[in-house]
Amino acid sequence: MAHIFCIANQKGGVGKTTTTINLAAALAAIGQRVLLIDLDPQGNATMGSGVDKRQLAFSVYDVLLGENSIAQARTRSRWGEAAARQDMPTYDVLGANRDLAGAEVELVNLEQREKRLKNAIAESIHEYDIVLIDCPPSLSMLTLNGLCAAHGVIVPMQCEYFALEGLTDLVNTIKQVHANLNKDLKIIGLLRVMFDPRITLQQQVSDQLKSHFGDKVFNTLIPRNVRLAEAPSYGLPGVVFDPSAKGSQAFIDFAKELVHRFQST
Ligand code: ATP
Ligand code: MG
Repeated sequence: MAHIFCIANQKGGVGKTTTTINLAAALAAIGQRVLLIDLDPQGNATMGSGVDKRQLAFSVYDVLLGENSIAQARTRSRWGEAAARQDMPTYDVLGANRDLAGAEVELVNLEQREKRLKNAIAESIHEYDIVLIDCPPSLSMLTLNGLCAAHGVIVPMQCEYFALEGLTDLVNTIKQVHANLNKDLKIIGLLRVMFDPRITLQQQVSDQLKSHFGDKVFNTLIPRNVRLAEAPSYGLPGVVFDPSAKGSQAFIDFAKELVHRFQST
């Protein structure tokens, strides 16, 4: 049975999409069958997987509104020639674009509006080991659909003072969804990203996180690494763009840690 994880944090620009595309590529590289679902109208995870969001025949929008199944609407990540020569495995992508912004309003009148994605995933779940859902930076109906569909949440965060404050809101939302809508939902772990060990504050916040959340903090640290930031402009995850970069290696380690974690539970 596939594991379904949301990559969520209502704070903007904390590294959700970077985590989703690199984790998807890293999991594919270690042999997992992966579906990436882009739940953000910005479509960054779609573009970062080599899929042009302006040319999608169908998207997650059509799936949420019940027009198409995931099997009909998905496409495959594309690496282009340079990366293809390195023989990097690909993954399935259920893409998003600006159409999705309208879904928020259109879903309001539909039955089971928070469970549309969950129901759609159920039909395709047997084809995958892992489904990763990239959430938008808000606690909206879209994010709620992600949280209702998932078994767990992976929270990327920067080790800064305000990060801890934002975490309280997210933890409360997850508790509410758990209590009212999705009994399976739990926090899988907190992933420290864009980490710079030379900055004392980051070390302090990292220590605080570990004392508050214990083993919910993943061991793997994702460093701040310019190759991870450059890769999306080539329509590639860093793991595919430059597999030897420090940041890419960290995502491979993270994929292994994650697989190990749910194999042992
Ligand atoms: P949004 O809330 O808008 O969806 P997000 O949480 O998905 O944003 P990203 O888009 O992944 O965040 O990252 C924000 C910016 O930080 C991007 O420019 C990205 O390239 C950069 N970035 C993310 N992770 C790293 C890293 N480990 N090292 C260097 N740059 C990074
Ligand atoms: Mg994003």
